[in-house]
Amino acid sequence: MDNCLFCKIAGGEIDAEMIYSDEQLMAIKDINPQAPTHLLIIPKKHISTLMNIEVSDKELMGSVFTLAKSLAQENDLEVSGFRLVLNCGSGAGQSVFHIHFHLLGGRPMKWPPG
Ligand code: 5GP
Ligand code: ZN
Repeated sequence: MDNCLFCKIAGGEIDAEMIYSDEQLMAIKDINPQAPTHLLIIPKKHISTLMNIEVSDKELMGSVFTLAKSLAQENDLEVSGFRLVLNCGSGAGQSVFHIHFHLLGGRPMKWPPG
């Protein structure tokens, strides 16, 4: 989609620190990290928010979790724990309207989140 930051990163128009890429998914380092490990897991298909997923996206969305598991292992986060966060809508803090999950780890996490 035109004028979408994550579509431009997926298409190679804008640079990012790419950690993982396949046909359907990519993982990049967040430009403004909120934890020692802060990755963004992003389906390459343009879906604006969680409210825009369809039944046909089931497998794609499921594959986010297996990638999150691999990335957590690669970053030694299995024992210390980590967060996988999706902000849906501006009221929840979503600022880029292309669906993505934050993988955060490497420091203690508080609950409830701010
Ligand atoms: P949201 O607020 O939508 O849940 O998350 C968007 C995330 O994208 C933020 O954590 C923000 O730091 C990150 N971000 C914004 N612009 C860029 C960019 O140009 N490159 C990278 N790698 N991350 C970005
Ligand atoms: Zn997009």
